[in-house]
Order: sequence, then C-alpha cells, then structure tokens
Amino acid sequence: MATQFTRRTALVTGLAAGVAGLTFPAVASAAPAPSTTSGTAFTHMTVVDVTGARPRPDQTVLVQGDRITQLGRSSDVRIPAGMTVVDLRGKYLIPGLSDMHVHSDTDQTSPALYLANGVTTVREMSGTQKNYDWRKRIDAGTLLGPRWVIGSRIVDGSPSLWDPNLLSVVEVTTEDDGRAAVRTLKAEGADFIKVYSRVPKDALYGIADEARRQRIPFVGHCPDNVPIAEAVDLGQRSVEHLFWTPFGISRKEADIRAKIAKIRLGEGDYAGWFAAIHPLEWEAVHSESRVKARQLFAKFAARGTRQVPTLVMHKALDRARELTPNDPRRKYLSKDYWNTQDYVIQELYLNDRKPEDDAQWAAMFDYRLAIVGEMARAGVPIMTGTDTGTPEVFPGFAVHDELQLLVQAGLTPMQALQASTLEPAKFLGLEAIAGTIERGKRADLVILDADPLADIANTQRIHGVVARGRYLDPTTRQKMLDDVIAAAANAPAGTQVAACPCHT
Ligand SMILES: [Zn+2]
Repeated sequence: MATQFTRRTALVTGLAAGVAGLTFPAVASAAPAPSTTSGTAFTHMTVVDVTGARPRPDQTVLVQGDRITQLGRSSDVRIPAGMTVVDLRGKYLIPGLSDMHVHSDTDQTSPALYLANGVTTVREMSGTQKNYDWRKRIDAGTLLGPRWVIGSRIVDGSPSLWDPNLLSVVEVTTEDDGRAAVRTLKAEGADFIKVYSRVPKDALYGIADEARRQRIPFVGHCPDNVPIAEAVDLGQRSVEHLFWTPFGISRKEADIRAKIAKIRLGEGDYAGWFAAIHPLEWEAVHSESRVKARQLFAKFAARGTRQVPTLVMHKALDRARELTPNDPRRKYLSKDYWNTQDYVIQELYLNDRKPEDDAQWAAMFDYRLAIVGEMARAGVPIMTGTDTGTPEVFPGFAVHDELQLLVQAGLTPMQALQASTLEPAKFLGLEAIAGTIERGKRADLVILDADPLADIANTQRIHGVVARGRYLDPTTRQKMLDDVIAAAANAPAGTQVAACPCHT
C-alpha cells in the first residue's frame, strides 16, 4: 500500500506541478555520488537525449544504481575503477520509451515484451489485481518489467458498453454516483480515475469535482454526451483515442450531439456503438470548422491536456478488413489470445461493416492522422499510447508502430520520441528524474543499432535495454523474447488472456 500511495501522490503532485510549472529540485539533486566500486560505463555511443539538442557523438554514460551519474565526451569522462565497461561504438542511445495506454493481463508475456522492446514505463488503463502484483514484484526486483502506473477500473454509464462478465466496470448515472465512484476507486489504490464513453454529463461533473477534491487525476475517453472542449475545461488530464475530436471541430456539432444523445445501446453492445458512431464521425469529417479546430487545440495546449491518439489501434479498427493472421509477431502471444482478438475483429470491428464501406473507414484513418498532425502543430502535448490488448496491437512492439504513425501524421522524429519519453515524464510529474538523458536522471535507456532521427523505424533496431540501471544485453534480451515465444506456445488452452479485448 505504501508504494501505491507514494506513486499516486507523485502522480497527483506532478500533475498539479505540471500545471503550475513547478519543478522538483529536491528530487533532482538526489543523484547518488559517484562510487569507485560498481556500475556500468556505456562508452562511445551517440546520445540522442531528446531535450531537443543535437545528437552528441562519442559519448560515455556512467550508470550507478538506477541513475545516470555522469555523461560526456568519451575522452573527458573518467571511468571509476571497478565499473563494467560496455563499448557501444556505432550505437545510439535514447531514453526508455513509454506506452501510456495499455491493457495487460498475461503473466509470462506482458512485462517481458514491454521491457524487451525498450518500453520502460506503461500506463495501465483498466487496472486489475494482477497489475498491482506485477508492480510489487518488479519494484522488489523479482520480476523484470517496466514501471507501472495503474488506473482504476473503468467508470462508465449505465448500461455500460462492457459486458460485466468480461470486465469489472463501475456504472454511474448521477453526479453523486460520480463522486462515490472516485472515492471508491481511490480507496482501491488507483493512480488515476479512468472514465469511459457512456458516462452521463452530470456524472462527469461529479467525477471531475470529486477528483479535484481527492487530488487524483481523471483521464480517459471523452464521454459521448460531453463536448470534448467541456471535458478539457473540467480538467480531464488526458483524452484517449480520436473518436470524439471530429465532433468537437464540426460546424454541425449541435446536430451531431443531438443524434448522439439518442443512441440507445444494451449492456455490452460495443458493436452497436461502433455502428452508431461511425456515420456521425463521417458527417463530422465533412463539416469541419477550421476556426473550431484552432480553438479546441488551443484549449488543449493552454490547459496542458494530453492527447493519446492510439493511432495503431485506430489503424487496425479503421482498416480491419486488411488484417491478416500472418504477422510474425503473433508467435509472442498464445493461441487463446488470438482467438479472442479474431473474435473482436469479426464480431465488433466488422460485424456491421459492408465491404463497400471500407474506403470510407480507411479515409477516416487518414483524417485521424491529419488531426494528430494539426494538434502537434498547435502545441498540444501528445503521448504514445497503443491500446495494447486490442486486435493486432502487439505488446511492446506497438509503441514502435505508434512512433512511425506519429511521424506519418507530421511529427518530426524528435517530436515522436519526445511523445514517448519527455512528455510522459512531464505528465507523470517526473520530468526532474525521467524522460531525457541527463545526469541524475533514471537509467531507463534503449540502445539502438541505427539513428532514430534519420528514420524513426530505427527504434525497432534494439541492441540492448537499460532498466533501472540494469543492462539487458543482446543475449539477455533475446532470451527474454525466446522465453515469451515458448510460454505462448505452451500456454494451456482456456487460460484467460486479454482481459480487455477492445478499447477500454
Ligand atoms: Zn484502452
């Protein structure tokens, strides 16, 4: 419990501090003094520190404990006696990556796949006891995995889009329900409150106010019946996915909102939600207001509200007909996992979709890319998130897919890297100790074989990973991946896999 409290406090404090522009000098000065007995010296690399500075060639980085204790030109940095020296000539060093939107439920897969892919921080978007157990073991050093920020069970309206047999949902109707949900979920140990698509407006007001009182952030979907600008004004700290943004920048928003208000769905009718929302999205695309777009994105930027586009999920959904079972990364996941995912593709994604509609859905994805580019140009802070747990979104690997999609959307490779490193650190209030490669910061690092600024796809060419100061060299990393493949192949049929097959 102490760990949870500390992390939640750090998150809340950090969010408040981020708004106020404060820093954490006490934490920044806590870097351990150099010792002469232990640690690792990574030498002769090019450092891409993601502060925005140019890459610096031929650098040496000293790591002691879980911190970077020194870095500079290899000719200038004295390596204390006793340190292990790793010559990384020709390699590139970036900070550890973050996946700010995951759903993880597979013991022998999730923690290992994140870390082996250089993902050293994840934000779990519908927390389960399993996630808390992993975090405890990872923090204790008995399990290899990323740092885990864990959200509440999802808060949805009634009836929920979710079948309660699949996922534990807190259903709210009134403002008082919203307040009660925040208190309950905070008491359960959540780092933040996750709101969902069908939360009524009154309940969201209750959630927002109680979250402020309880000093816990709320994030998530933009509820269908709340204009996105209003959710931002209410203090929602991050908006997940890009389902609601087109409505918020449409000239016909009032008409569209009236239609949305009439959508009636039974419990667990996710397919019905897709079918109802998509034509309205398409209407919004054709009634975009440049003025409203500018105003909305300026509001995000001014309030520091984060957008987590999860483009990799949207691509799979919008272009679902193109998905094939041939991706070589399927070997990392069990047959049951794929049966669940294939079910979601057929029964939720493609259920009501006619082949003649495919071009329209594909165009919708192009529109989402354009929105992300425009948000970035407007100064909206963007973070990498993948919605791992949804179809064809591969744990760990998907962050690299998302980085490529962000560049396709118009971010520079540097901006894309920052969306996965510096921005999440700022969001979590950890900028003073994480997010870039600087002295005193956490030694969460990824070593690449090629320059990610020349081609963002080079983030996939991973040589090694440093997690909390521990070096996972190429052999260790490969063994982690091989163990996942073996575990997936040997998983007994009928084991529970993805807890969240879709969009939570
Ligand atoms: Zn999700």
